Amino acid sequence: MKPLTAPIFDVQRFSIHDGPGIRTLVFFKGCNLHCAWCQNPESQQVAPLLSFYEARCEKCFACEKACTHDAILKDGYRVDHERCTLCLGCVDACPHGALQPIGDYLSPENLVEQILADRRYYKRSGGGVTFSGGEPTLYPEFMEKVLDLCHEHDIHTTLETCGTFSYNRWQAILPKLQLIYFDLKVMDTARHKQATGLGNVRILENARRLVAEGYPVEFRLALVPGYTDGVENTKAVINLLKELGKCEIHLLGYHNMGETKIDIINGSQKKLGLASYSTDQMRQVSAWFERCGITAHFDG
Ligand code: SF4
Ligand code: SF4
Repeated sequence: MKPLTAPIFDVQRFSIHDGPGIRTLVFFKGCNLHCAWCQNPESQQVAPLLSFYEARCEKCFACEKACTHDAILKDGYRVDHERCTLCLGCVDACPHGALQPIGDYLSPENLVEQILADRRYYKRSGGGVTFSGGEPTLYPEFMEKVLDLCHEHDIHTTLETCGTFSYNRWQAILPKLQLIYFDLKVMDTARHKQATGLGNVRILENARRLVAEGYPVEFRLALVPGYTDGVENTKAVINLLKELGKCEIHLLGYHNMGETKIDIINGSQKKLGLASYSTDQMRQVSAWFERCGITAHFDG
């Protein structure tokens, strides 16, 4: 039988965002949305891959000598992703750290071992672990096992989701979560599809069902200039929150750092050239939510 694993591209310790207290953030690779503004483009593809930092490269070509798969390119971007088998020979050979792997398949036990490293900080601060991505709900079996192990050790668990999951598949897993951050984006279905590659019918159904069934859901809205922060879209978000009896939202301001990551993976995501959201802009949008009776939280 194939061992149970999932692709993880980062485990960040000592975060004070994304949930209560001090947290470990686990980033899964793979996403079923492809948001035009994706700030973690390296998370979209499920499989691990090699990244290339051109500014560090001294063109010594030790990587070429180490590669037995003819996957090193002499000009431009250094790696031929089609040929690369991720043997990591070039990573070890590069004296300048210009080649770095992104993602690794971990077992639930291995991941929980990393999470447990900070359990004393969780206890003192009321923190725990937050599963992010990418989209963690792509890996229900893996998540179920990880959540069971976390509960055995009394670790608080939070899921961040774009809401595209199969509710039936997740029904037995949802009660194992102590907090669900549910990310809203574009409220109009056709525009959602245009901006993310998928419509939002299932997302909105899942949002309504989670709340109706009493799960601890908190909604978030990514503020992306011209995509999600217009009056029409924010009004639709407010209407949904009111319909669901929710009076709070977490606002996440767009930042354009993700665009530099497109280069290191040689990704195809189009650069939008948008400015990052400023604290003043966050305050303005937050005030608009407050005027409509919704308490808006953001990190300023
Ligand atoms: S070994 Fe590193 S520094 Fe040398 S050419 Fe390859 S990527 Fe560049
Ligand atoms: S990871 Fe292995 S196959 Fe891929 S480029 Fe490096 S040495 Fe070649």
